[in-house]
Amino acid sequence: MLSEKLHRALNDQMNFEFYSAHTYLAMAAYCTAQNYDGFANFYLVQAEEERFHAMKFYNFINDMGYPVTISGFGNPGNEFTSVVDTFKTGLTHEKEVTRRIYHLADIALEEREHATMAFLKWFIDEQVEEEASFDNLIQRLERVHGDSNAVFMLDNELASRKFDPNAQ
Ligand code: MG
Repeated sequence: MLSEKLHRALNDQMNFEFYSAHTYLAMAAYCTAQNYDGFANFYLVQAEEERFHAMKFYNFINDMGYPVTISGFGNPGNEFTSVVDTFKTGLTHEKEVTRRIYHLADIALEEREHATMAFLKWFIDEQVEEEASFDNLIQRLERVHGDSNAVFMLDNELASRKFDPNAQ
């Protein structure tokens, strides 16, 4: 059973995951405008993943027998100074997601709501990977100091990323 507080927090996180999808779609648009199709693809896949995360919350709230409320949200950022800036902004965003997931887990733990604790476990693990993935790309981009061949190769590498719902 979900308390009003936990129900609201789960619903808020669902909406924040939709907002995350928008955030990464804006980054995809920036990369496309810069003719970095591989980086753009990385963000398009990331946006799909975030929508998938949102739907996990949507389904969980429904399965628990509670209503879902879809809200609007503020504009995501659309102004970036470089590709590495998008990844730094992305890492900051993912750290905020982790903080929110931990806050949700704290409420579930406090209320001894075991079904929610089990549900959130997947997101706790996922956040470790999300932060590591952004951190890795920042480091790789910073290491090459804007060398255009190296950036081109990384762009090419990310062009092959695909959304895999089974890996979610
Ligand atoms: Mg997410």
